[in-house]
Amino acid sequence: MTATTTTTGPEPSASPGLPEPVGDPPLLEVRNLTVTYGGTVPAVRGVDLRVEAGQKLGIAGESGCGKSTLALALLRLLPATAKLTGEILLDGEDVLTMKWGRLRAVRWAGASIVFQGAMHSLNAVHRVGDQIAEPILLHNTKTTPAAARKRAGELLEQVGLPAARAQAYPHELSGGQRQRVMIAMALACDPRLIIADEPTTALDVMIQAQILRLIEQLVANQDVGLIMISHDLAVLADTCDRLSVMYAGRVVEEGPARQVYAEARHPYGRALSAAFPRIGDPASRRAPRGLPGDPPDPAALPGGCTFHPRCPVALDSCATEDQELREAGGERRAACVLVNAPAADDSRSMS
Ligand code: ADP
Ligand code: MG
Repeated sequence: MTATTTTTGPEPSASPGLPEPVGDPPLLEVRNLTVTYGGTVPAVRGVDLRVEAGQKLGIAGESGCGKSTLALALLRLLPATAKLTGEILLDGEDVLTMKWGRLRAVRWAGASIVFQGAMHSLNAVHRVGDQIAEPILLHNTKTTPAAARKRAGELLEQVGLPAARAQAYPHELSGGQRQRVMIAMALACDPRLIIADEPTTALDVMIQAQILRLIEQLVANQDVGLIMISHDLAVLADTCDRLSVMYAGRVVEEGPARQVYAEARHPYGRALSAAFPRIGDPASRRAPRGLPGDPPDPAALPGGCTFHPRCPVALDSCATEDQELREAGGERRAACVLVNAPAADDSRSMS
């Protein structure tokens, strides 16, 4: 599918003006992706992303900014009311134009998703081992049910559960154990890319840390790509190499994860990092500051820069002039008119 909209997203090449690098295509390249629900709700607007094999990309943003829509779009898991334009190149092959048979193969073996609510994603009436074995059987027609069950047990051990837990039903496991089962399922067909959509949000803090370490280890061992989605910038800064910050369906800031966390160039990025200080980080000595208000309803986006109604440093022109991602020093880009202005102090107007 090619883009039919004329959104003002940035050029797809990593460095505008330079030729595309020659060689293997990146593991994932998303170009000018838009998702519109029911013809009137533009939930994702002109997003570009790139993930290399072995790389970990974090996607941050408050609830309602389009993160899950983006994650589901990557594997065409959205309801039929969602219309997609742009390109989603997985190993150079466009997911948006794939035939169904190919898409089914890609869904577990090319890329897989770990969702937030493991209880809702697992089938309550089937043993978890059988649920892990199912995609293995689906994708390897030569595998026997006994071999798939054996592999399910190995996968459970890989995510820190005894193989015997394969016999359990989802309700017999804790929230953290169910999330481990979801991760085992995501690994079942050796995907090249794992997408984790708020994988720890529903869990308590100690279990969150364990699950995050587990995901990190698995990705490091297997050289797969990872997209980790969270509203918590501190978690993403710890786990990921690069970060993209989403607001109202767009990427408004991107760059090396620790730099974006430590000194975001977009006022929204700064607000998010102030909201989630990291223990032991100098930034955490500041009291966490909230950002008043909520992200806009995509069906009624404000004009100009969509962040301007909440922005503590907005200029008059921000109410009418939209901003595209622009170079913001080093490998960073941000969609703010003040990116290259002297450092703005936006602390005064945040509550
Ligand atoms: P996030 O994951 O960042 O919280 P979502 O992708 O879930 O954001 O939602 C982005 C926007 O799209 C929200 O305004 C949400 O209400 C809207 N939305 C999500 N799913 C649907 C749907 N199936 N139909 C219509 N609107 C939807
Ligand atoms: Mg979500």
